[in-house]
Amino acid sequence: MSVVNTRQPFLNARLQGFGATIFAEMSALAARTDAVNLGQGFPDKDGPNEVIEAATAAIRNGLGNQYPPGIGVPELRQAISDHQQRFYQLPYDPDTEILVTAGASEALAAAVLALCETGDEVVTFEPWYDIYGANIAMAGAVKKVVTLRPPHYNFEESEFLATLSPKTRLILLNSPHNPTGKVFSREELEFIAKVAVERDLLVVTDEVYEHLVFEGEHIPIASLPGMRERTVTISSGGKTFAFTGWKIGWVCATPELTSAVRIAKQFLTYVSGGPFQYAIAVGLGLGDDYYTDLLTDMREKRDFLSAGLESAGLEIFRPQGTYFVTADARSVGYEDGLELCWQLPEKVGVVAVPNVVFYDNEAEGRHLIRFTFCKSLDVLDEAVTRLQGLK
Ligand code: PMP
Ligand code: GLN
Repeated sequence: MSVVNTRQPFLNARLQGFGATIFAEMSALAARTDAVNLGQGFPDKDGPNEVIEAATAAIRNGLGNQYPPGIGVPELRQAISDHQQRFYQLPYDPDTEILVTAGASEALAAAVLALCETGDEVVTFEPWYDIYGANIAMAGAVKKVVTLRPPHYNFEESEFLATLSPKTRLILLNSPHNPTGKVFSREELEFIAKVAVERDLLVVTDEVYEHLVFEGEHIPIASLPGMRERTVTISSGGKTFAFTGWKIGWVCATPELTSAVRIAKQFLTYVSGGPFQYAIAVGLGLGDDYYTDLLTDMREKRDFLSAGLESAGLEIFRPQGTYFVTADARSVGYEDGLELCWQLPEKVGVVAVPNVVFYDNEAEGRHLIRFTFCKSLDVLDEAVTRLQGLK
């Protein structure tokens, strides 16, 4: 969703209202004003050397330079299968239950396009990640939202039940959750799972921040009783290995669900990122040290930025996961987070993202702004120093 929703003369009705993404707009604003960019979530340091070496070796050795298999190279599908087994004890057959995609983004688009009829309703939580709304609109489906409210971003079960109707086809879940940093608890997931089973709904779950959980644990909803057969699990190598530009994502689901998503996916990109698929396979196989170091590093950054925002007078909602922290603009005298985000570069030289663009019910998110902490400590330190100017 964009902050500038001008009518586009050539754009079809389904996509009217969707402008440039907020991430592109805010990164452009940061570049124009030479501000510290804590808006768009991308690391300022590339991922592990072994993975870079594997990508360059693949290119040199002619691995994946021509169209790879439509479902992904066998090495990566095996590595994804091993990863699901290793971290969650969830077995997926690499030949029939795994599909490699152009990032989690394509997996999400293909899943929604494949699984929804025109007019079907998709229940998701607000604030939602921006592409969900566009994917649902492209499919001709209808978004229904359940609001997550600070400080803990819990939801009301009654509100969730009230969004359901005979037209509900699927629940689109994201845990750990962008932008709030919420990690859905076992109880919450069990409630969603129970409803999905009772109403015979599908669940598409976006788990791209699965390895960035600081408190609580990441529970794939597919691991709950009755869920494996109705869940499309989506993740990607972007966050876990700090290569957001490579766009290697994947789907894990039953053969029937995988096959449906594959049919949509093959007409979007067919295939992508051949050599990078081999490299992400190497990444997924890295030892436990890699995963624990990633978490330790991000936790330190979360704590540093959270404390820094508080020292600048901002009330924050401490994230349990992801690499984002949300703050309340009202604590520094702004009712409107969008207004603060536009003024922030000029005022103090920092860029953040206004959460209101992730809400259908704008009043719920009007005062909230998001900062990312996937940057080096020096950069975060500079941002925190600048933000003291808010006081
Ligand atoms: N889902 C969420 C919640 C995200 O934050 C992002 C952003 N990276 C994506 C999906 C897209 O992932 P990818 O870059 O792998 O397409
Ligand atoms: N997922 C990233 C974020 O939330 C942005 C990805 C993008 O720019 N599309 O900041």
